[in-house]
Amino acid sequence: MQETFRVKTRKSQEVVDITRQVAEAVARARLDEGICTVFVRHATAAIIINENADPAFRSDVVTALDRLFPQGIWEHDKVDDNGAAHLKAAVLGPSEAVPVQGGRLRLGTWQGIALVECDGPREREILVDVR
Ligand code: ZN
Repeated sequence: MQETFRVKTRKSQEVVDITRQVAEAVARARLDEGICTVFVRHATAAIIINENADPAFRSDVVTALDRLFPQGIWEHDKVDDNGAAHLKAAVLGPSEAVPVQGGRLRLGTWQGIALVECDGPREREILVDVR
């Protein structure tokens, strides 16, 4: 089963929890055991699985990415001025996979699935593939 949902980001960079939307898609798939792939269909956004309880961690991700990839020094900036955003998304990657059991995501207690916006605000399309 595949389905997509959209997330409207509000800032140029932010980490948005999408665990609930993914869990709902997995529940609709009625799969006993398998794998859920979460994939963002954009070149300047990424998917991560990490700490989900402390909101400060989300701003730490943005801060760390900014330190790793400063603005305005990349070849791609000559094209559309968002070289840093592409590099952040490339390092994090566009997808994550989560085991499914009994129709539920087998995430750890502190894990959540998040969209990382690197060049917003924009509307992002996320694909969930459960099989
Ligand atoms: Zn670009």
